[in-house]
Amino acid sequence: MPTTYTKVEKITDAAAVKSAYKPTHPGLFEVVYAEGDYNSKLVACKPYVKGEIICKVEGVTPGPKKYTSVQVGKEDHIEFNSDLVFMNHSCNPTVSFDTDAMTVVAVTDLKEGDNMTFFYPSSEWEMDQPFTCWCGAEQCVKNVQGAKFLSKQTMSRYFVTKHIQELLDERGDAPAIKA
Ligand SMILES: [Zn+2]
Repeated sequence: MPTTYTKVEKITDAAAVKSAYKPTHPGLFEVVYAEGDYNSKLVACKPYVKGEIICKVEGVTPGPKKYTSVQVGKEDHIEFNSDLVFMNHSCNPTVSFDTDAMTVVAVTDLKEGDNMTFFYPSSEWEMDQPFTCWCGAEQCVKNVQGAKFLSKQTMSRYFVTKHIQELLDERGDAPAIKA
């Protein structure tokens, strides 16, 4: 697995990017590139059943918090260095990232071609780049800023990593208000 994985984010020629693309997890999942900003996605290459481990997460490197990083401890952030960086957020996610076991797990049954998404606040306390979610899920949280800004009740609908659960317990029930 390359340690200098570059996330191609702004895409003006999806066909060219696609022809140069080598999946980091062939047969498991792959990036579907789309033109524009932040339009690409990660899809399953085979069916998975709910609870199945999709992959062990290997080859990560520690780094500063930024839009591509994932929080794995109260103060720790990593880069995936793989196609996993293309997992988009959804308020009705299909996978979870267990930062203790370092596994990506199916939280629903997935068919080949299904979008692999996870609920970013399940690992992120206060995100580097908050955004407005348009996932369309009935339970959409709209402002995706991190678990710090969500109620415990909202967070209880999701798989939550150990460090986020601890931070929620330290915070108490009331979500923080974004200044
Ligand atoms: Zn949403």
